[in-house]
Amino acid sequence: MKLEKALTKLKELQEKRYALNAAYSALYLDAVTVAPEDTAEGRGIALGILAGEQQKLLSSKKTKKLLEALEDYRNDLTLEQKKQTELLSREYKRMKVIPAEEYMEYAALTNDAEAVWHKAKEEDNFEMFLPYLEKLVDFNRRFAGYYDPQKAPYDALLNEYERGVDMQYLDAFFDKLKEKLVPLLQQIANAEVIENDFLHGYFPKEKQMEFSDYLMEVMKIDRKHCQIGETEHPFTLEFNNKDVRITTNYQERDVCASMYSVIHEGGHALYELGIDDRYQYTFLTGGVSMGIHESQSRFYENLIGRSREFLAFIYPKMCEIFPEQFDGVTVEQLYRAVNKVMPSLIRIDADELTYCFHIMIRYEIEKRLIDGSLQPRDVPEEWNRLYRDYLGIEVPNDQKGCLQDSHWSGGLFGYFPSYALGSAYGAQMLVEMNKEFSVSDAVTKGELDRVNDWLKEKIHRYGSYLEPQEVLANAVGVFEPDHYIDYLYKKYSEIYSLNR
Ligand code: ZN
Repeated sequence: MKLEKALTKLKELQEKRYALNAAYSALYLDAVTVAPEDTAEGRGIALGILAGEQQKLLSSKKTKKLLEALEDYRNDLTLEQKKQTELLSREYKRMKVIPAEEYMEYAALTNDAEAVWHKAKEEDNFEMFLPYLEKLVDFNRRFAGYYDPQKAPYDALLNEYERGVDMQYLDAFFDKLKEKLVPLLQQIANAEVIENDFLHGYFPKEKQMEFSDYLMEVMKIDRKHCQIGETEHPFTLEFNNKDVRITTNYQERDVCASMYSVIHEGGHALYELGIDDRYQYTFLTGGVSMGIHESQSRFYENLIGRSREFLAFIYPKMCEIFPEQFDGVTVEQLYRAVNKVMPSLIRIDADELTYCFHIMIRYEIEKRLIDGSLQPRDVPEEWNRLYRDYLGIEVPNDQKGCLQDSHWSGGLFGYFPSYALGSAYGAQMLVEMNKEFSVSDAVTKGELDRVNDWLKEKIHRYGSYLEPQEVLANAVGVFEPDHYIDYLYKKYSEIYSLNR
């Protein structure tokens, strides 16, 4: 195969992959937004065929030949072509590494496990889910060996979600958080309780929709390339860097639910919108990892969206849209209310400070499940013990305990830590950004484009061209969790008037 031909084939393969992904995403988006209730069957058939085509495309003999040819021309490839080849090779190996029968069996298992988990959660019945959890853990321990037999099984799984991250990295990170944040949380538990009733008045949906539009405008999200929809669970979905969708969920008794979903998903959207044009329709586009993606969403949600400056900037508009609801409420009261700390049972409802404890608990349990020192049947007891230890709360049942998240039923072991890492990465990005300009000044003036420009320059534009650890190094140098701890300490000591 001539070089020119190999490059044409590489381009065609990537475009076909893009087209299959786009079709898959469009069907998914339709299903969760506007599709009528009883339409799942036909869509299921179409989605199955698209997934099969994707697998064929990436693992065929032709692809193997193409990879061999590209390897022969290695020295003639540009850096971008080299990276495209590397990422194709990685996909090819991933498709090949798990024996086909096991893969099919596992796909059927996760499909059943998700349905059973739904029911088990609804009925608060851990026993019902237990046999599935046992099988899922077994499969994942085995898969870890296929991914990388040199690594400890949980390290191999972690690497699938956040390349370059392992238990040593995470133990150091979480130990530090635990050491500093457990005492902080205890102090807050003894401090005066913050009043936030005014956030739970009546907020009509149409008014909240108007507010969403305004928030996207403040974040300088280009609406010609990004639309907002409604789903039960908010998410961001990208077709390419000119077509990104976000969703939110409106709760009329809780104005913050949608507000912070829009800001969070808006952060994800800005990342996808900011990726370089020349990476489009190749392996190099799309956010590089969960951890880096969450660093962008949580940066906006918490470091910007829950800051005094941001709230002061949007406050006049909030009063204009919701005049009665915010009658007599000051910016300072609003700031304190949206930052109220409250140890709670449910991860997705947690405040900024207690959120990382929810992740820490899941990390400890996963780690021990995968190394075999904790048996699946003992998960509820261990879960409840850790919630008592870290958050000081009693878990009344498994529905509000170990059955609350869907991740394990989908076979995702090693996924949770990236949520906490993202928050910590974001805090260090703020420190670096402040070396170049005053972020609080920019936010006070509503100049969010300055923030976006920095993020685009350091992070967004690279897409998947750089590895997660390279993106991080490019943005902040050496990762240092102390910045995150300092940020939380300073913020909450001030809000709760604690003497440090
Ligand atoms: Zn997110």
